[in-house]
Amino acid sequence: MNHFTQLRLLVLSSIVQVAVNVPLYKTFDYLCESSVAIGARVKVPFGRKKMIGIVLGHKDKSDFSKLKQVELVIDDAPILDSTMLDFLQWASNYYHHPIGEVLCAAIPKNLRLGKPAIIKKTPTQSRVTKPAEFEPTEEQNSATKSIVASLNTYQPFLLFGITGSGKTEVYLNAAEKVLSQNKQVLVLVPEIGLTPQMVKRFMQRLDTVVVSIHSQLNETQKLDAYLLAKQGVAGVVLGTRSAIFTPMPNLGLIIVDEEHDNSFKQQSGFRYNARDLSFIRAKKNHIPVVFGTATPSLETLKNVIDQKIKNLTLAGRATGAKLPLVTLIDTSRDAINQLSTQLIESIKQTLDNNKQAMVFINRRGYAPIYFCPNCGWRASCEHCDATMVYHHGINRLKCHHCNAQSLPQQSCPECDHDGLEVLGYGTERLEKTLESYFPKATIIRIDRDTTRRKKSFNQHLEKINSGESCIIVGTQMLAKGHDFTNLDMVGVVDVDMGLLSLDFRATEHLAQLLIQVSGRAGRAKDQGEVVIQTRFKDHLIFQHVLRSRYLTFANHLLKERQRVGLPPFSFQALLCANAKNKQMAWDFLSEAAALIQQIDVEGVDLWGPAPAVIEKRSDYFYCNLYLQSNDRSKLHQTLSTLIDNTHRLKLINKVRWYLDVDPIE
Ligand code: ADP
Ligand code: ZN
Ligand code: ZN
Repeated sequence: MNHFTQLRLLVLSSIVQVAVNVPLYKTFDYLCESSVAIGARVKVPFGRKKMIGIVLGHKDKSDFSKLKQVELVIDDAPILDSTMLDFLQWASNYYHHPIGEVLCAAIPKNLRLGKPAIIKKTPTQSRVTKPAEFEPTEEQNSATKSIVASLNTYQPFLLFGITGSGKTEVYLNAAEKVLSQNKQVLVLVPEIGLTPQMVKRFMQRLDTVVVSIHSQLNETQKLDAYLLAKQGVAGVVLGTRSAIFTPMPNLGLIIVDEEHDNSFKQQSGFRYNARDLSFIRAKKNHIPVVFGTATPSLETLKNVIDQKIKNLTLAGRATGAKLPLVTLIDTSRDAINQLSTQLIESIKQTLDNNKQAMVFINRRGYAPIYFCPNCGWRASCEHCDATMVYHHGINRLKCHHCNAQSLPQQSCPECDHDGLEVLGYGTERLEKTLESYFPKATIIRIDRDTTRRKKSFNQHLEKINSGESCIIVGTQMLAKGHDFTNLDMVGVVDVDMGLLSLDFRATEHLAQLLIQVSGRAGRAKDQGEVVIQTRFKDHLIFQHVLRSRYLTFANHLLKERQRVGLPPFSFQALLCANAKNKQMAWDFLSEAAALIQQIDVEGVDLWGPAPAVIEKRSDYFYCNLYLQSNDRSKLHQTLSTLIDNTHRLKLINKVRWYLDVDPIE
């Protein structure tokens, strides 16, 4: 191209390619008379509506005649710079998700709505930082050193250490170094792991603006945090999964705390995994990424074996506390409605010693089953394949899948018997039962029902952190990184569901959960106690959990996965269809399966169509088609071709469908 044509191009290139928030795999061409930067927002007419879009490119010719005009250029400077656009484009390709929806998922709502990119409230930064009150251990020092030695190069690390081993100290020390080079640190934490304590710890130690990004902020606060990061003012961004999309021009280190946690996976809309994306972001930025956990996911362990991740271990507990003593209680001969005497006895002793006890059950509500002892009828949801959970406080039956509610029947709808009963435990019933055993004790229940209000979770935590002797009853919300210093005993009431599940990841998750909750016990000087009730005490998982041997068990699971060729030894994608008409969902997937079979890529296996584990949800029937391959690129080649050819699927507009790459359910 000679100088002259280049010049002409610049003048004529008044066509812009715009990504808008629609489920279509393309950008749209518009005429634009004023100059506009790539990555800036524009307002465009779209169909009969106006939409906010992001400019992805300029061109001088379009395949379409009669282009519409851009109505307004919103930003002078790009909202997304080329590094971010490159990263998001990568994510769009990898997850086979429309670029417009990806970009919109990646920016705060106020920017999506076209509001100006202006900071409302600049933080006043006149804090006094406090250095650590102790010397790092040798292990902590060497872990920090390894990370620091890799600054400015791409290098993933696993920071493998039990709860209380001092991982957060390592994050802080590494972050200090990164900040001293005028770079920024991104810390991703699980949904419930972002506690005020954690934020405070970073603020107290690091001499920079620390912003946290999570769902409890209002939209103005979210935008402010985003822009402070984007302008390089915030040295540290602490956030849940969507924080992986925070623009940070001087990003120097990414930390993913509790990397095994499932909440890094977005389970609706644009289904990404923030943990996996952090590899890509680190790679593109040539920086290290640290995955911290006591219970690494099998994916991460395999990466360590394959030498894609360097392992750093913190073997001891930083405070010198011993690991808890774990005991199993065999409940196979007990009635389901009974708490074991051993559990009650342990709680009693803990309270007598003026300590805190926590009893953990993974279900909220009073009881999961409301039934007729005469004929066996069970209350079930009209809209879902699920039983109704009885909630005592409000005297309602509730469906935990679609939130449907009803008054409990007085007598059996099948046989008229009028002594209906409940079976099994939820947090509410556990609380009530424990109240009857310990009428004088303070009992704090923590689940979604008691913490729905913004502040109440933190109020509960404050009460627990006061150290006062009490019984804490809760769901898995409690299993995450909280540091309860006076907690001496943990009881786990209902683990058997995890052992009976059809999901091939269920035992991995159960082992992680048991080790994590065990880690809550005895963090101070004394040895804690963990009591697990089960009907399957001979299950292999317990032999390992009892000795806190997560790695041995995980390696056993890895071998099993390898033998049957499941992830992480293969790669999966899920095509899920759902419709009110069950046959329609099924037929759509059969059509898709036939199409995939025509795509001549060897080594991609198909499973399905098959009904989802819970087939009916909110009156829609869910149906799954799994694609699996040992070769990631072959799987993705197939997915690309499938997406390019979806217009050939006759039923595509008759069903709702989505593609989930690397599904975890
Ligand atoms: P993790 O993140 O692995 O759970 P933390 O970093 O939160 O561990 O450390 C657990 C506790 O031990 C915290 O109260 C912390 O202040 C303390 N701690 C960490 N490192 C040391 C150390 N080197 N010496 C003494 N106490 C430490
Ligand atoms: Zn009956
Ligand atoms: Zn329902």
